[in-house]
Amino acid sequence: MSPRRSPRHGLRAAPVLALAAGALLLSATQAHAYCRSASCPEKNEPGRICEPASTDDCGTPLLWARPCVGFNVQRDASEQASLPQAEAIFTKAFEAWMNAACSGGHPGIRASYTGSVACANVEYNTDKANANVVMFRDASWPHSGTGVLAMTTVTFSRSTGEIYDADIEVNTALHDFAVADTAPGADLLSVATHEAGHFLGLSHSADPEATMFAVYTPGTISQRTLEADDVAGICDAYPAGASPGECDTVPRHGFSSLCGADQTEGAGGPEGGGAPGDDGGSGGGAPGAEGGAGGAAQVPRACSAAPPSGGPRALPAAALLALGLLAARRRRRAPRPPR
Ligand SMILES: [Zn+2]
Repeated sequence: MSPRRSPRHGLRAAPVLALAAGALLLSATQAHAYCRSASCPEKNEPGRICEPASTDDCGTPLLWARPCVGFNVQRDASEQASLPQAEAIFTKAFEAWMNAACSGGHPGIRASYTGSVACANVEYNTDKANANVVMFRDASWPHSGTGVLAMTTVTFSRSTGEIYDADIEVNTALHDFAVADTAPGADLLSVATHEAGHFLGLSHSADPEATMFAVYTPGTISQRTLEADDVAGICDAYPAGASPGECDTVPRHGFSSLCGADQTEGAGGPEGGGAPGDDGGSGGGAPGAEGGAGGAAQVPRACSAAPPSGGPRALPAAALLALGLLAARRRRRAPRPPR
């Protein structure tokens, strides 16, 4: 019983996303413009729910159902960022979200780094162990969109919106990234903070000042820090509440450093066993929460750099999105010192 995924070429969802974001630009002057990713099976496409409401709002917002989630960095890291550098940068990126000031405290979600892993695949296993992996694509970018800096793929329950898994890919094959403040290239911490927002269930914001704005402007570091719009979004998704206490970061069906295809019984298999609240695995034949028409779906979110100046060419959808929004961003956004 395999999960019902959006086709792997789910990237074709990008034109839908691009159109939606373009429309959002009309309300860019709103104080808040954040959107949460949503399960929208009735439209058979990735949905979103925005504040203020958008006419194409659809579905159930995505959410990690448990207050603790682990993330990992693929152990080969990148020629542009060593494993320790990548670990530090993504840890800092998630901390930006966890440290947001919500009414009554910090967001009720803890994302913890739980080590490097071998697996370099974007995948969610319904009958094997999992990991939420940050991976760098040094050799080649396996998706369309040369302007895409990074992509986060979230797997979730179509019926409840519960996030089961999230994987982040960084396009180091086609872009230069900076791991230090003064280095040239796209600021990796800015990109990481944006992708961490997707990982936690946020979609793109219409606010050109927001970390969750769809486009990164070369040479800036302002997306490292959350704007009021980002804070409103994460606090909406995970209101401040009681401390989660002892965190259980074990993914659904257990944790493994290895990809599903490499997991064998007793060797690199699940460590830590099944997660609480699992749906009983796939052995029973009865429709589980991850199977059938109401099962799991995957949504990739492509995030772009503003292209260099010049006329539009045969740009992929993501780059066209970048192009369309660049002008507004340049007007409204000036580089700011880090806070
Ligand atoms: Zn994005």
